[in-house]
Amino acid sequence: MICVVTPETIDHANDLVEFFTALPECESVGFNIEEQEGAARTPVPEEAAYRFWSRLVRHRLAGTPLRIRDLDRLADYLGATRAGLTDHGRYEPIPTVAHDGQVVLLSPELLGIKSRRYADFTAGNVLGEPIGDMLARAGELRYVTEFVTALNDCADRCPFYDFSGAPRPATATSNTAPSPPGRPLTAARPGKP
Ligand code: SF4
Repeated sequence: MICVVTPETIDHANDLVEFFTALPECESVGFNIEEQEGAARTPVPEEAAYRFWSRLVRHRLAGTPLRIRDLDRLADYLGATRAGLTDHGRYEPIPTVAHDGQVVLLSPELLGIKSRRYADFTAGNVLGEPIGDMLARAGELRYVTEFVTALNDCADRCPFYDFSGAPRPATATSNTAPSPPGRPLTAARPGKP
């Protein structure tokens, strides 16, 4: 299950854990802290996010039976790192198809959003062409090229990149997106295997 955590619920980690633990059929929950993509929403304060995650970690250390997706991923990553198994595959472009066939890339939240800088984020329409053709032109989209630049910047500078920049196992092998011209869709980290 997915739980979107908002400014109203960010300080109720204990209640959320209690709720999902008691929920029949809930094997695992992923907590998504509300993003600000494409809309003027009140942001979740950074300190509140730290408090939220530290409470979840405390529950985990105390032996909660609830599986928490994000902590499982972190544990998997740490285990893989210790075993020398980290890998950098290509980044999943996440093509999202709207009810009318319009396709956006990189984030479902971009559907229906308009911007002076990026127009409507549309990569094409599946009623007129296959998604593979759209992905082949992905490098012509300004927001995609800016994303790739930022991804490369993350790879170059951020100590968390190995965790946050690495594709997840479920998507790492399904990516068929060609890279934008001159830039790999996966950031290649200089000096790393
Ligand atoms: S790699 Fe680092 S800088 Fe880039 S998004 Fe992740 S945490 Fe932020």
